Amino acid sequence: MATKLEKEKYRKIAELGCSLCRHQGNEGTPAELHHIRRAGVRSKSPVIPLCPFHHRGTNTSIHSGRKWFESHYGITEEELLEQTEKLIE
Ligand SMILES: [Zn+2]
Ligand SMILES: [Zn+2]
Repeated sequence: MATKLEKEKYRKIAELGCSLCRHQGNEGTPAELHHIRRAGVRSKSPVIPLCPFHHRGTNTSIHSGRKWFESHYGITEEELLEQTEKLIE
């Protein structure tokens, strides 16, 4: 269960809009949260905002395969996370 503080942070992240669309020069595409998979508890995993197309679209999204996504779009999940964290500071 997310704490109040985490929920507040998630809301801010979602409000940024899709981080990949932003990278491509389109700010403010409505986004959902993508959890970055790391070892450990899922609820503690960092999140980035991605639009449905870039989050779970067929052959267009992070869930099409992280390696594919990173080489296709020329940016890594971790770089998107870094940019996201900077924007909500
Ligand atoms: Zn997008
Ligand atoms: Zn996801």
